[in-house]
Amino acid sequence: MNKELEKKAIERLKFYETPDDPYYLAYSGGKDSDCIKILAELSGVKYQAYHNLTSVDAPETVNYVKSQKDVIIQRKYWDYEHKNPITMWNLIPKKKMPPTRIVRYCCSELKEWGGKGRKVVTGVRWAESRARAESSDVVKILTGTAKVKKLAEEINAKYVESRQGGIILNNDNAESRELVEMCYVQHKTTINPIIDWKDSDVWEFLRHYGCESNPLYQCGYHRIGCVGCPMAGKHRYVEFERYPKFKENYIKAFQRMIDYPGYTGKWKNGEDVFRWWMGEDLNQLTFEQLLDMQELQEEYE
Ligand code: SF4
Repeated sequence: MNKELEKKAIERLKFYETPDDPYYLAYSGGKDSDCIKILAELSGVKYQAYHNLTSVDAPETVNYVKSQKDVIIQRKYWDYEHKNPITMWNLIPKKKMPPTRIVRYCCSELKEWGGKGRKVVTGVRWAESRARAESSDVVKILTGTAKVKKLAEEINAKYVESRQGGIILNNDNAESRELVEMCYVQHKTTINPIIDWKDSDVWEFLRHYGCESNPLYQCGYHRIGCVGCPMAGKHRYVEFERYPKFKENYIKAFQRMIDYPGYTGKWKNGEDVFRWWMGEDLNQLTFEQLLDMQELQEEYE
């Protein structure tokens, strides 16, 4: 196991900690979040781990998360008073389009909404994808408003702008820390202690600390995400074979989207949408749908 990487990750966690303000640790039930939870324990920093139920988590993932007694499980509601949860099934008709690789409205609504006003620790790593490699670093402030940039310049904190317009910092120096302290309450700020870990580093680390991990990894899964996540591409065929009820629910949600008042698209029924969504019928996107997608993409980037 790479002890140097472990040491560096622990130092990062300690360096950005605010006394008396525990980290919000984003726990998905995947290997990277197991890794950051163990690192948080090893470092002795104060933290609270949260898992946000999305309504499309695999049952094995939900059970695995429930087995982690130190993880707080929560969900987001349309209306907290009447406990009316936001789910993939009611979000799709409301958004008037299925979630796609470029318009992942579900992530911000279902998965990544927590941690407002807190420093959020994530298991984001460069090795996950090229997009992650280009748009993330040890610290990411998700917005790069003129005010945030001015603060950075005033204290001489060196930063790079991410593709989505946020600010990313890779210096564990006093200026970076000061900028994080000034920003995190108002601007979503993530600390990514294992940003530079490879898959093999993660697995070696988990083995070393005896972590069993989500059982789906033993079923040939490389990444743990929502069932039907558009980022999973063709792997969704495997998922829907395993969880046919989820496929049914997606088709029903697409049908409700078509039946929703004001729907003007070209799709005839939920099955049609499902085929397009799975990449089987790429010619069915209307110009209006493309415009909608573009608008939503801008909104959620
Ligand atoms: S389906 Fe994919 S994009 Fe949507 S919330 Fe889940 S992980 Fe995020």
